[in-house]
Amino acid sequence: MSLSLQEIIDLEDLRELMRFFYEAAGISVGVMDADHNWLVSIGWQPICTNFHRVNPESRQNCLLSESRIEEYLDSKQEYLTYPCPNGLIEVAIPILLGGAPLGFFFLGQFLHHPPDRDYFRRQAIVYGFDMDSYLQTLERVPVVSQKRIDYLMKFFVRFFDLLTRIGSENQQRRQAELEIQEAKEQLENRVAERTSELNRALLEVGDLAAQLNESLQQVELLAVTDTLTETYNRRKFDETILHEHQRAEHGKIPFSVIMLDIDHFKRVNDEFGHSTGDQVLKHLSRLIRGLVRQGDLLIRWGGEEFLILLPGTLISEAGPFAERIRLEVEQEQFAEDGSITISLGVAQLREGDSTDTLLKRVDDALYRAKQEGRNRVVLQSPLH
Ligand code: GH3
Ligand code: MG
Ligand code: MG
Repeated sequence: MSLSLQEIIDLEDLRELMRFFYEAAGISVGVMDADHNWLVSIGWQPICTNFHRVNPESRQNCLLSESRIEEYLDSKQEYLTYPCPNGLIEVAIPILLGGAPLGFFFLGQFLHHPPDRDYFRRQAIVYGFDMDSYLQTLERVPVVSQKRIDYLMKFFVRFFDLLTRIGSENQQRRQAELEIQEAKEQLENRVAERTSELNRALLEVGDLAAQLNESLQQVELLAVTDTLTETYNRRKFDETILHEHQRAEHGKIPFSVIMLDIDHFKRVNDEFGHSTGDQVLKHLSRLIRGLVRQGDLLIRWGGEEFLILLPGTLISEAGPFAERIRLEVEQEQFAEDGSITISLGVAQLREGDSTDTLLKRVDDALYRAKQEGRNRVVLQSPLH
């Protein structure tokens, strides 16, 4: 990568340093970049700016100097000592980085020896300069021995070598830091992308898990649901009854059951067909589901027999509830066959009851309801 002088050296710093040098040594300094633009130019001699460059003829000498210097710049010589035709001396060195010139440093104008006044008087006459002020200005041109200039140039060669080396190292370090920063940002972007991909994947997995869970719940519900009537089946009864037993025993929470059976259902089948019988069963289930409270369980016990589990319910509440169901069914207009009636038995779980003894009591009550003429509610016998 080729660097320019401006890129590796802080120009403000350089100008300040050069100004310090000028103030201390009294010798003009200039720095040019590789494209021959002046970056620093301090203390041009008034004898040049006010006299030699003003008169058109002496100016020709200045321009000649400039073209000689241009030649020097192009020739890439290492060191130029140039006595200008107007009698002043200037020296220049290339500012190198890795052997390639980044620019040029100029020192001058100055004289090596006290000025030959006669020579300058002649110049004043030739070019028509005001003699006094020309000679006064000449006094301001520093006189610096060849030896001192050699040392100064040695100093500046080393000085610029150091400056360009440190400058380019700094520049390379900045570049490397920039590249590291870019690489870091790219990495961070990739990490962020991957993270969001991962989050999306996790969300999908989460969705999948939720769907799976939902499916599982549906399967579980199907396993305890009667397909025709969509009420619970006996498996649900088995799952629930134990729990209700425990609640009743430990918490003294009452628990009642209602068992109901459609009266003369055979006739419905016989008269309207089996599928009409099915529709009646569905209709009846819907009706009763609409009557039970939340927490009550409607179970298809078998055929056209249903069981209603009533947690937290005394028989004194279950009895009127059964009666209400009976009445609602009696009054219901079944689109399929007109009307039906049901018989119901009611029992409450007692201390020491097993599921079987409870079921036996409620079954007995239902049996008695049938015996006593159907379309009625019979509560468990207090003796049983
Ligand atoms: P009762 O008043 O004594 O109960 O008379 P019932 O005719 O209802 O007699 P029972 O309860 O003994 O007979 C039940 C009948 O219900 C027998 C069977 O054909 C019918 N049944 C049982 N399950 C279904 C079913 O899923 N669909 C239909 N359509 N009929 C059923
Ligand atoms: Mg029946
Ligand atoms: Mg029956």
